[in-house]
Amino acid sequence: MAGLSAGWRLNKAGYQDFVLLELEPEVGGNSRHGENAITLYPWGAHYVPLPGPDAHLVRELFEELGVIEGYDREGLAIYDELFLCSDPQDRLLINGRWQEGLIPEIGISDADKRQYESFFATMEAFKVARGSDGRAAFSIPVDLSSRDPKFTDLDQLTMAQYMDANGWNAEPLRWYVDYCCRDDYGCRVDDVSAWAGIHYFASRVGKGADSAEASLTWPEGNGWIVKQLTRKIGPRIRPNALVFNVETSASGGVTVEYYDPGTNETTRIVAKAAIIAAPRFVAARVVKALRVAPPPYLKAFGYAPWMVANVSLDTKPAGPGAPLAWDNVSYQSPSLGYIVATHQSVEQYARRSTVISYYLPLCDGDPVEARKTAHSRSFREWADLIVADLARTHPGIEATITHLDVWLWGHAMIRPVPGFIWGQARQEALAPHGRVFFAHSDMSGISIFEEAQYRGVVAADQALGSIRSEPQ
Ligand SMILES: Cc1cc2nc3c(=O)[nH]c(=O)nc-3n(C[C@H](O)[C@H](O)[C@H](O)COP(=O)(O)OP(=O)(O)OC[C@H]3O[C@@H](n4cnc5c(N)ncnc54)[C@H](O)[C@@H]3O)c2cc1C
Repeated sequence: MAGLSAGWRLNKAGYQDFVLLELEPEVGGNSRHGENAITLYPWGAHYVPLPGPDAHLVRELFEELGVIEGYDREGLAIYDELFLCSDPQDRLLINGRWQEGLIPEIGISDADKRQYESFFATMEAFKVARGSDGRAAFSIPVDLSSRDPKFTDLDQLTMAQYMDANGWNAEPLRWYVDYCCRDDYGCRVDDVSAWAGIHYFASRVGKGADSAEASLTWPEGNGWIVKQLTRKIGPRIRPNALVFNVETSASGGVTVEYYDPGTNETTRIVAKAAIIAAPRFVAARVVKALRVAPPPYLKAFGYAPWMVANVSLDTKPAGPGAPLAWDNVSYQSPSLGYIVATHQSVEQYARRSTVISYYLPLCDGDPVEARKTAHSRSFREWADLIVADLARTHPGIEATITHLDVWLWGHAMIRPVPGFIWGQARQEALAPHGRVFFAHSDMSGISIFEEAQYRGVVAADQALGSIRSEPQ
């Protein structure tokens, strides 16, 4: 997304003399998707919340793509209803019954409810809070958030410490906040910074005409956005291009070398500038300056591994209580549950079959060990784990499974652990090396579409600035 967004920006600025080199046969990275006879389905990113006031670039893109059809008299965006997540959006299996919504309600005590009220009132206050610099306390993109230490100091604690300090220890509330942190960061409340934990709740302030609190989603998830961006810059994309060296050339430009495993050929490009839109742990091996003298900031970049499975079913899952929703979560499961790929399709009502995308952040213990364990498991072992968990949620579901695929994301998401977002290391990592510019969501400390897009656009502007300031 960062690389495609850089290309989108260059194109719009009237600069077409670039190529986009992609390691894989297809672009998209963490927002790639798949397709079978039943439907399209996501392999990673699957939704974008309605953009808030600071997310200008997201709105600009969505206007171009027709996702935003116009604005009402109050200036609220009117979204194409095809892309707004339709009802029912989510449900939770708790105490043997499905309820609507993900905040646990069934079997909740009055004391728990009082903690909900206090926690969510605090998050609501953070939504409108501004720092002494006049900026929103928690914004998307992160870069536009306030630097007021009143808020950034929260980056020093874990979310669990912050909740403890406020007496928010009710088990269902802790479960919910932990669920949210696992969902957005692949980290538990004990690992994620309180600033990041609060950001989840306080930064999503986008409203649409008639569509408050909604998300934008597509059968193929954010793969839909990938397809639209790909169309815009298509001829300049070179897939199967494994970039292995980027270095500043004697002329002040940049030399980029890549290998195509299909043709077994290596190509060298001499460019005026380069944007590295790969994660920083890859950039550290590819960019000569980082390889030769690894900067200490690299140690601060840690990534959460994930497993995603797409499971084809000949019958849609049901269960007691609230009906099947887009997002379906079990209180008992270590997973984040599953989303239903056919949810946005009107045809789903005429069909029994579907594909569910099952998400499991591997967030327990050391991420390096979790990554190794994930890789050491065979497909059969993964399939058994997934089916056993789904069968706890839906007894008998095994008999309805017609196909199951597993995808391991070794370095799925940057981990916003305490000190990362507002610390020195991330700041240092933002600086370019000569004409080598960096763009990846990991530079924001939060792995979401909006951050990838922002980083891509910033890098494109930096690269263009350096090229255009050159004497002709
Ligand atoms: C399971 C999962 C679920 C997610 N869900 C959501 C969601 O619902 N909503 C959301 O907004 N975000 C979600 N995300 C976050 C997602 O990471 C971002 O939305 C976004 O896609 C990140 O884009 P990026 O460009 O920063 O990075 P990446 O996706 O990491 O892209 C990096 C690209 O660089 C390429 N590359 C790497 N090395 C080389 C090399 N040597 N040479 C050439 N190319 C190379 C890769 O192939 C890849 O295409 C999810 C992520 C995962 C893993």
